[in-house]
Amino acid sequence: MKGPRSRHKFNVLRVWECPACKKREFAPARVASLACRCEGADRPRWMCLLEAKSAGPKAAEPKPD
Ligand SMILES: [Zn+2]
Repeated sequence: MKGPRSRHKFNVLRVWECPACKKREFAPARVASLACRCEGADRPRWMCLLEAKSAGPKAAEPKPD
């Protein structure tokens, strides 16, 4: 309950997907990049950030504009 980030009480996980092997991983929101080692440890594939998991299926989100 201490610290300026106390409002993030729950770990928010975002979904990353490897463009090569389509493997998905969950990582905390503070993670800026993830590498997949499906092509070898010396050839990291940078995973793409997908939409954060939300409750309920939503095809498109309304823009505030
Ligand atoms: Zn991969």
